[in-house]
Amino acid sequence: MDLDTNEAGEVAPNQYPDRTLLILPATPDGDVLAGVLAARLDGVLLGRVSDIGFDGDTLIATRPAYGGRIRLELRLAQGIAIATMNEPPAGDHVIRHAPLAVLAIDRVELSARNAALEGAHLVVSGGRGLDADGFAMLDGIARKLDGALGASLPAVDLGLAPVSRQIGQSGHFVTPRLYLAAGISGTPQHLAGIGAATRIIAINSDADAPIFRYAEVGAVADARQLLPELLRLIEG
Ligand SMILES: Cc1cc2nc3c(=O)[nH]c(=O)nc-3n(C[C@H](O)[C@H](O)[C@H](O)COP(=O)(O)OP(=O)(O)OC[C@H]3O[C@@H](n4cnc5c(N)ncnc54)[C@H](O)[C@@H]3O)c2cc1C
Repeated sequence: MDLDTNEAGEVAPNQYPDRTLLILPATPDGDVLAGVLAARLDGVLLGRVSDIGFDGDTLIATRPAYGGRIRLELRLAQGIAIATMNEPPAGDHVIRHAPLAVLAIDRVELSARNAALEGAHLVVSGGRGLDADGFAMLDGIARKLDGALGASLPAVDLGLAPVSRQIGQSGHFVTPRLYLAAGISGTPQHLAGIGAATRIIAINSDADAPIFRYAEVGAVADARQLLPELLRLIEG
């Protein structure tokens, strides 16, 4: 693929030929970059796909959805497709390595509030038991540990976190290795957003809170006292 670049080595988005497939690593950064590229190139974002193949000229990508409960088959006859994948696709269809092209992308520092929830190894989540200071501490903990911020529906309703951070039945489904739930009671609607293999650590002032039934580690404590200690420890 021969692409003209300007003096800065940037490729004009309209130079990518129709029917281009860009594959990035399936990491939180890869997912974010894939979204940026799709917007810049006016491409089709396929998301995190498990398989990519071709049926004639039609690109077929398979993607798990609803936490792996169903498989989506996405078909694209033309256009620029952008996907993230754990493994490069197998098979003998032609994959050309384009010369390294540089797109002009503004870099902004990610905070835990805009770190991708999908693929995050740690989600640090707050509920109605927290206030704005509590969420600021969760944000600090998540940022220090390279995690992403989550929230319960009531915390979103209270304006403590944006709706894009909501975990649960009507929010995101997340599958981190660790899920820290602070001031969250553990209702079925919230737990529906957490993968079965995820280990939960709970902080709640009520020893009878249902979340403790699902948590591997629990602290019966006032989050207003425990979270600053935790942040201090992590900042070491
Ligand atoms: C159709 C439908 C869809 C829904 N979808 C979602 C969804 O996607 N996500 C979601 O989260 N909810 C959802 N809900 C709402 C859900 O039913 C619960 O209301 C919600 O999950 C409770 O959120 P919470 O745990 O933050 O609040 P609460 O249940 O009020 O729990 C707050 C907890 O904080 C603890 N606490 C209080 N003060 C402190 C302190 N100082 N330190 C430590 N702990 C403290 C309390 O002991 C309590 O356990 C949905 C409901 C419906 C009907």
